[in-house]
Amino acid sequence: MKQAEDTTSGLGGAIGVTVAESSTALNVEEHASPPTNQARTGYPKQDGQSLSYWLQQVRSDPLLDHRTTENLPNGADTVIIGSGITGTLAAREHLSIWPDRSVVILEAREFCSGATGRNAGHCKPDQWRGFAKFEKAYGTEQAIKILDNEADTWRALTNYVQEHKVDCDLWIGETLDVPVDDEVAELTKEIFERYKEAGGKVDHIKVTTEPTSAAQISRIKDAKACYAWQASTLQPWKLTAHVMRDNLDKGANLQTYTTATSITRSNEGSGKWTVHTERGDIACENIIHATNAYSAALEPDLKGLITPKPHVCTKVVPPRAVSGSRAIKNSYGVLLPGGALFSINPRSTADGNVMFGGSNPGQQALDEWVDEHPENCVNDGLTDVEGVTQCVQSFIDNNFEGWNQTTYGPGEGIQSSWSGVIGLSIDGVPFVGELPGKPGQWICAGHHGHGMARTFTAAPGLVRLMNGESWDTVGLPRVFEITTARVQKLKGASALKIATV
Ligand SMILES: Cc1cc2nc3c(=O)[nH]c(=O)nc-3n(C[C@H](O)[C@H](O)[C@H](O)COP(=O)(O)OP(=O)(O)OC[C@H]3O[C@@H](n4cnc5c(N)ncnc54)[C@H](O)[C@@H]3O)c2cc1C
Repeated sequence: MKQAEDTTSGLGGAIGVTVAESSTALNVEEHASPPTNQARTGYPKQDGQSLSYWLQQVRSDPLLDHRTTENLPNGADTVIIGSGITGTLAAREHLSIWPDRSVVILEAREFCSGATGRNAGHCKPDQWRGFAKFEKAYGTEQAIKILDNEADTWRALTNYVQEHKVDCDLWIGETLDVPVDDEVAELTKEIFERYKEAGGKVDHIKVTTEPTSAAQISRIKDAKACYAWQASTLQPWKLTAHVMRDNLDKGANLQTYTTATSITRSNEGSGKWTVHTERGDIACENIIHATNAYSAALEPDLKGLITPKPHVCTKVVPPRAVSGSRAIKNSYGVLLPGGALFSINPRSTADGNVMFGGSNPGQQALDEWVDEHPENCVNDGLTDVEGVTQCVQSFIDNNFEGWNQTTYGPGEGIQSSWSGVIGLSIDGVPFVGELPGKPGQWICAGHHGHGMARTFTAAPGLVRLMNGESWDTVGLPRVFEITTARVQKLKGASALKIATV
């Protein structure tokens, strides 16, 4: 493993480790095992971030270090902390509801250089896979609601991109979930059948349970089954930048390279807050925490509830044998034994490069290394994590039709990889709403490595809650709400037990 600035000893060559809870893998886009040190947190790392492919593509864009005003305003109606997809969409909704109220967005580093600017570019609504876990944790009605919300979110994102003609390489097509092991195939079948029996919508999902046909459809040699439905890939930085540019046109004030270091009550009883930064303070009525993985650094009450964990994305340039008419035409969730998952996302409407994210089997060794060196919990300066890279190589060599006989020429094959920091939620779903005991402070965070299928409804939903709308009219799953009862219950619970149900 390489990193831009050395912090501690490396990971060595540990590879091929599988994770324990197969039921967890059948949950989210980015399977996320719980860290053992639940209380760890940190502010965004200032130096030595690895550059994601998305950030490499926009190096001359002035939005990266934009400051709308030279000096930080000393007051605002609302301060939004974080310029990822959540903070940017929250600003958009705020400007739409209250065009005359002032909004300042603080970003610790370059615009959108957190998880959004370094993810695997997949907006894949979970349409059945997570059902068993969510049903066990939250009951049938909420479990269905969560999956319906993911479909709504995907539609909201794609509608926005199409309506506003956003240049962000959007692809809409069939995503394939492919178990490559008999036991995993059996489990997926059980979950799918249970979801259907419970009244979940499945008419839009094409199911193939016969392995030979599944292998033909998916082009994955070991496929045991194949589940296909609509999803998208996109360039997430460009989408977020489009929304932010529109926000700036409508009067938002973006201040990059400005870390919010603490928040205090500026006027006891009046509900006003002061956000402190090294460039000065801002007094405000409302604060939106759009800080995801880093939330607990600024709001210590969230320690143990939202925990940062580095994840890796790998960019692969397809060799000639799988380019042109033979290029990969679907995105994938490859479901591996032991709970691991490859999320594979080709950029079919752009350069054809293929992003490998998800919880690659090599991720567990990285997790163990971070547990031993918790200062790395916010390390988005990693590259070429050996175990992760080797698992990607091994998968494409052994499983993808056409790739195994290829001799890679220069510029083909694995080209680069980078880390980003996901915000694990202790109970697997985001925290949305007003922070208990802190009127005027709001949060939308803890997207559990799956924010592209959450934030297009959760972030505007939060702002509508700020405007006095009820949960029912906003339409988000009730279990996303941050309440005193939820916080107390989770703080008193065994993290491992909750996180892996
Ligand atoms: C490698 C990787 C692959 C992923 N792949 C996918 C995928 O394919 N599909 C999917 O759905 N999800 C994926 N995710 C998860 C997804 O990217 C996140 O859930 C989503 O981007 C969260 O958006 P956000 O705006 O809430 O957080 P972020 O994008 O992390 O934004 C938070 C921002 O807040 C800033 N900030 C934090 N603290 C402060 C402070 N004190 N002061 C000022 N600024 C601050 C940060 O610098 C950051 O820019 C992936 C994540 C990673 C890391």
